[in-house]
Amino acid sequence: DRSSTTKASVAGGGGGRRVPVGLRKPALRIVVTGGAGFVGSHLVDKLLARGDSVIVLDNFFTGRKDNLVRHFGNPRFELIRHDVVEPILLEVDQIYHLACPASPVHYKYNPIKTIKTNVMGTLNMLGLAKRIGARFLLTSTSEVYGDPLEHPQKETYWGHVNPIGVRSCYDEGKRTAETLSMDYHRGAGVEVRIARIFNTYGPRMCLDDGRVVSNFVAQALRKQPMTVYGDGKQTRSFQYVSDLVDGLVALMEGDHIGPFNLGNPGEFTMLELAEVVKETVDPSATIEFKPNTADDPHMRKPDITKAKELLNWEPKISLRQGLPLMVTDFRKRVNEEK
Ligand code: NAD
Ligand code: UDP
Ligand code: UDP
Repeated sequence: DRSSTTKASVAGGGGGRRVPVGLRKPALRIVVTGGAGFVGSHLVDKLLARGDSVIVLDNFFTGRKDNLVRHFGNPRFELIRHDVVEPILLEVDQIYHLACPASPVHYKYNPIKTIKTNVMGTLNMLGLAKRIGARFLLTSTSEVYGDPLEHPQKETYWGHVNPIGVRSCYDEGKRTAETLSMDYHRGAGVEVRIARIFNTYGPRMCLDDGRVVSNFVAQALRKQPMTVYGDGKQTRSFQYVSDLVDGLVALMEGDHIGPFNLGNPGEFTMLELAEVVKETVDPSATIEFKPNTADDPHMRKPDITKAKELLNWEPKISLRQGLPLMVTDFRKRVNEEK
């Protein structure tokens, strides 16, 4: 389909496009890798709602068709079962590259596959971006800071990562993905954007994906004790998914490469999180202590000054506001199990 390709890339090509004043922004064609997953499916909703065409590439490792089923009749939407470790030919204007398991339980399940996804998958998507002149956004992670020696974490911090540990398929994988992105930018002129995402929660997370918010909520709903790993004094900062999606789009559309921290600076210990889940789901919920996993970062909190200044973005939804929205979705799905 070369004719529409040419038209779309002239009208909507990545950056530097000139839209005559008074004319509506032309619709873009956008690839979302990992679009059947938790964050990806919310991003797809937003892009389709604003009138763009979306192609999702996903191998359904952790993603589900259910997350996208409402778009199946939409002519601007296409879902392709594809593993990003393999090359692919497409013609689009923008690539949001999310494909990669995000929960420690999932990414440790097959570490070799995880690092292949991060390295070969990102290489393929950058090769695609280079060939077609598309703008490329990488969803990196706060895990690039490892078990941080600087708190809160700024983008200038280089991190404290174990290169041979059980988490390194993910955190070193994402660090390499960032390196690849910068090298394709400097060496091949690809327009790249890098987001460092901090812990994010919301509707459509896998019920049993092992991440702390989904675990606690599912456990409280099923009348099981909430499993606190270690002493529960480690901290995380929890961002509601719609805030993240707004940040990703602002980054893609903006003029800055990044990296940008995208997260909610509200910091909680796991014991405090359990308390908030208890208040929200079930005042009689209990906790149970379990041994912690290896290399677990002790604290994590984003400094988002850079995103505030350059992207005019900051999160709007606090944990106490966002958690009930997730609980509604989880309650429905837990009830369907019965
Ligand atoms: P998720 O597991 O729900 O989604 C990942 C998606 O990628 C799934 O649909 C999965 O099937 C797909 N996928 C995995 N490997 C693939 C492959 N080789 N080829 C094609 N598709 C593949 O996770 P999420 O929370 O939606 O995370 C999305 C992205 O955001 C990931 O890159 C993750 O590293 C990043 N991120 C998320 C968080 C968070 O808290 N949610 C934090 C930091 C970074
Ligand atoms: N690639 C792809 N789709 C494209 C262009 C490239 O999947 O449209 C893959 C290609 O198979 C290669 C990777 O992206 O494995 C990097 O491509 P690049 O052209 O940068 O490197 P080369 O092919 O020269 O090694
Ligand atoms: N955690 C916990 N109970 C659980 C799952 C996780 O206490 O059921 C802890 C985990 O040890 C870590 C924090 O919660 O300190 C966040 O873990 P998660 O897997 O959600 O994400 P991470 O930030 O480690 O990638």
